[in-house]
Amino acid sequence: MDVVCVAGARPNFMKVAPVLAALEQTGATVRLCHTGQHYDAEMSDTFFADLRLRRPDVSFGVGPGTAAEQTGAVMVAFERLLRDHPTDVVVVVGDVTSTMACALVAAKAGVLVAHVEAGLRSRDWSMPEEVNRVVTDRVSDLLLAPSADAVANLLAEGARPDQVHLVGNVMVDTLLGHLDEALARPLPEGLAPGGYGVVTLHRPSNVDDAAGLATMLGALGEVATQLPLVFPCHPRTRKVLEGIELPPGLELLPPLGYVAFLGLQARAALVLTDSGGVQEETTVLGVPCLTLRDSTERPVTVTEGTNRVVGTDPTAIVEAALDALANPPPARRPAGWDGRAGERIASVIDEVWRGRASWPRPTASP
Ligand code: UDP
Repeated sequence: MDVVCVAGARPNFMKVAPVLAALEQTGATVRLCHTGQHYDAEMSDTFFADLRLRRPDVSFGVGPGTAAEQTGAVMVAFERLLRDHPTDVVVVVGDVTSTMACALVAAKAGVLVAHVEAGLRSRDWSMPEEVNRVVTDRVSDLLLAPSADAVANLLAEGARPDQVHLVGNVMVDTLLGHLDEALARPLPEGLAPGGYGVVTLHRPSNVDDAAGLATMLGALGEVATQLPLVFPCHPRTRKVLEGIELPPGLELLPPLGYVAFLGLQARAALVLTDSGGVQEETTVLGVPCLTLRDSTERPVTVTEGTNRVVGTDPTAIVEAALDALANPPPARRPAGWDGRAGERIASVIDEVWRGRASWPRPTASP
C-alpha cells in the first residue's frame, strides 16, 4: 500500500506524526508531503525537530497567499504529485486549507481518501476551517472521527456507516508521548507552576480587527491583575498587535515549539484560547480552559473536559476566568483519547485497503 500523508500548517504536524509512524508499522510505504502553507522556522521547522518527524519526502513550499491562492497552488502541486507517483491512499488531517485542497484532488484522482479528525462541526460558517471540514468530509472515503459527537454529525449528514470509524484523538497520542519531556523543560523566567495563565489567539474573527482585539486585551489585562498571563503569539496576531499597547501583566512571547508550549500549558492555572487543538490538550491535561469564541467544534471538551465557551464579551471573560480559578472544573478523558488513536487509524486504513475490491465510491448525493 502506497500512502501519502499530507501536512500543511502548525496544527497538522502533531496529528500526522503518530499516523505516519503507525502506518509504517503495517508495512505500508508512506511519503510525507508538506505543502508549505506554514513554512518558517517558528511555525513549521521546529515541529519536525520536537516531534522527531522525518523530513518531508515532498515539499511544495506554497507560502503565504489568499485562501484561493493557497488552495489553487496546493491543488496544482498535489495533482502533479499523484500523477507522477501512483498512490493508493491519501491521508489528510485536521481542517486547514491544505487538508481540503489535497482531499479534493485525491477524490478526483480516484485515490482512497482518509480524513483524520472527521466530523467536527462548529456550525459557524464564517470560520474558514468549518468550510474546510465540511468539504473534506464530503469528498473523503474514510471518515476517522475523534469523538462520538463527530460520528453523529457525519451520520446526520448522510455518510454511510461503513465510512465512519470512531478512532479517538491523535493529538492525544502526541501529547502523551511528549509530556514527560515537556514537564522537564524549565518554564520561562519568572513563572512558577500553577502561578500563571496562558493565552493563545489567532482566529481571524478575534484578531483581524484591531479594535476588537484591543477590547479583548483589556479583559485579559483585568485577568492579569489576579494572575500573570503569557501569550505565545501567532504571526497573524502579532501583525495586528503592533499598534496596540499591552496591559501590564500580559507578556508576549514568540510562538513556541511543541514541547515548550506543552510544558507551559501543563503547568498553567488557566488557559484562555481560540485554538481548537488547545481546547483538547487542556482537557487531557486537566487544566481549566476558556474558549474565547461563540462556538466550539469540540463540544466533548465542554461536556467531559475542562473547557468553557465564554464568547468575546470582556465582562464575561473576566467573570469566567475568576470563576475557573476559584472552582477548577473536573475533567474526564473522552473515550479513545488514550494515546492509541494512530494505531487504530492505521489498522482501519490497512483493513479497508485489503478489502478494496468491495469498497464503494461515495455516492453523488446522500
Ligand atoms: N502550539 C504550539 N506552540 C504555540 C501555540 C500552540 O506548539 O505557541 C500547538 C498546540 O499545543 C497545539 C497546536 O499548536 O498542538 C494548535 O495549533 P493552532 O492553535 O495553531 O491551531 P488550531 O488547533 O486552532 O487549528
